[in-house]
Amino acid sequence: MTSYMNFIDNEWSAAYDGRTVDVVDPSTGEVIAQIARSGGSEIGRAVQAARHAFEGDWGRMAPAARSRLMLRLSQALLDHADELAALEQKDAGKPTRQARADAQAIARYFEFYAGAIDKLHGQTIPYPQEFTVMTLREPHGVTGHIVPWNYPLQIFGRSVAAALAAGNACVVKPAEDACLSLLRVAAILAENGLPPGALNIVTGLGAEAGAALAAHPGIDHISFTGSPQTGQAVQQAAAANFVPVTLELGGKSPQIVFSDADIDAALPVLLNAIIQNAGQTCSAGSRVLIQRAIYSDVVSRLAELFRATRTGAAKDDPDCGPLISARQLGRVREYLQEADSGGISIAAKGQLDANAPSGGFYQVPVLLSDVPPEHRLAQEEIFGPVLCAIPFDTEEEAVRIANGTPYGLVAGVWTQDGGRQLRLARRLRAGQVFINNYGAAGGVELPFGGSGQSGYGREKGFEALYGFTQLKTVAIRHG
Ligand code: NAD
Repeated sequence: MTSYMNFIDNEWSAAYDGRTVDVVDPSTGEVIAQIARSGGSEIGRAVQAARHAFEGDWGRMAPAARSRLMLRLSQALLDHADELAALEQKDAGKPTRQARADAQAIARYFEFYAGAIDKLHGQTIPYPQEFTVMTLREPHGVTGHIVPWNYPLQIFGRSVAAALAAGNACVVKPAEDACLSLLRVAAILAENGLPPGALNIVTGLGAEAGAALAAHPGIDHISFTGSPQTGQAVQQAAAANFVPVTLELGGKSPQIVFSDADIDAALPVLLNAIIQNAGQTCSAGSRVLIQRAIYSDVVSRLAELFRATRTGAAKDDPDCGPLISARQLGRVREYLQEADSGGISIAAKGQLDANAPSGGFYQVPVLLSDVPPEHRLAQEEIFGPVLCAIPFDTEEEAVRIANGTPYGLVAGVWTQDGGRQLRLARRLRAGQVFINNYGAAGGVELPFGGSGQSGYGREKGFEALYGFTQLKTVAIRHG
């Protein structure tokens, strides 16, 4: 069985005491590999390597040179896209189309930031004549990245490509449940010219390697994606060292369907927004608010789509693959039991492939109807393929329900009414609002992030470059 090591200073190294964590294929439940179970000492070595790179040639590289290198790295990732997709499929249980899309996306992040970094200008500020005042955008230094298991390639690309482009040196702690693709990415980047120490990957458990990274005094910025509870712990650990944090903590995102909407266009999008990646997507559209006049019609048409979905082994490219782990399956099942005991009706369920391996972590998509907006099922992130349908009467009520959770990440609105489109775009509490679509194909260019328990700070687009740099004001008095 393959045993994977940490990647520090462009070299492989085992955990200090040789401990490992099993890697499980979610489609079968079988152990397929082992990763290093690291802790404070491995994180310490990685931070040291990153600091050395930042203070050395990597930190001094001109933006145009970094841009050319990032473009080369993007092409190298594209050249290995099939291999990365295969690893991601095995490790994270991704259906083939999703795994391929994720492998393309990481290359696109490197391409986008390659093109952006030498256009990140400071400003000059009008001031009394005897002064010239300017602002400089400078990297933080050593950035820490705690990556979850739901989209390892994409979320790594989202934060690490921007951080590297901005000139930081990175220490990454991927999720113990899915990190094989990222170890391969690190090797590909090193083989194609990323200097030692610019990117270091340390694997292990969240409570050990993750906590050690969050608390390390040699880190200058932390980017975390995952649960609100862990986000809070990371924030507290970082606060002890006055380290700024960007948090992306998921959501309970609503799509609002008004009675004048183009229902034919909306239906497949509503379905996809909750079954993509088996619902394990921070921006999953997990609540659908439907205006009463069309409620029963839309629910019954959605139910038909749910019943037609196929759930099965990732390699068979089903509509819905397995959940990441037995633990995650247990969490989702608990929510469904609560629906059952609370008398919430199941409008439809999908089908499980007859040949889905019995050890896999499968949950077929479930459509729940008439879920009270304040019910736990309509308030908490289930992180599985479970959609809550909720009726509403007026625009006012729709906004109140949509904004009525502790989250604020993404919202979708389906209506032909131009005034309503603009009103809701402003009134919805979300970092991204989509009108007559959902996600806009997830473009790298679109700033992304939330408020409340969805976190704070923005990644993607140019905004990420502002986040991974800090502003310095320089005032020169020349008389
Ligand atoms: P988690 O937040 O605990 O894990 C995310 C990452 O944080 C992993 O890399 C993990 O190793 C690390 N981590 C865990 N504990 C840590 C600590 N004390 N200090 C530093 N890092 C730590 O998430 P989970 O337990 O895998 O999943 C729990 C729930 O979180 C899910 O059911 C889902 O609702 C949510 N979740 C959301 C996202 C998202 O994209 N928003 C991703 C994963 C999980």
